[in-house]
Amino acid sequence: MYLHIRWTNFKCPHCGATWASRIVSAPRVGIEGRTCTKCGREFFSHDREWVHMTRGEKRGYLLSEWVIGWLLFYALLFIIVPGSDDKLGTVLILLGVGAVMFSPLVLARVAAIRQSNARIRAIAPRQFKLRQPRL
Ligand SMILES: [Zn+2]
Repeated sequence: MYLHIRWTNFKCPHCGATWASRIVSAPRVGIEGRTCTKCGREFFSHDREWVHMTRGEKRGYLLSEWVIGWLLFYALLFIIVPGSDDKLGTVLILLGVGAVMFSPLVLARVAAIRQSNARIRAIAPRQFKLRQPRL
């Protein structure tokens, strides 16, 4: 699993210019080939198109550290909260807050995967059909 929380600078392999700084080191869904803004040369980025990702990379992307952090946070809340009189109400409120907190993350990922698939289709429609994974 790609579960390391550390601040990582992604650099151009030609000139060493930093093109991204991220806490999550797992590959993201994105454009694979980038052009360096400093030296103008092309290189392979850390990002992968969805259809090119391995199962482990997909899992790492969908279950990133943020999600796991939130799950731990909720587990803690369930341990801390039981003192309240209306337990069902408390649980429903927490679930509601969780849904509101998670939905932008989930929607952003779904959007990134859709954009990735659209890019692949635009480049190689036949290849995309052949390589399209079962979801
Ligand atoms: Zn460069």
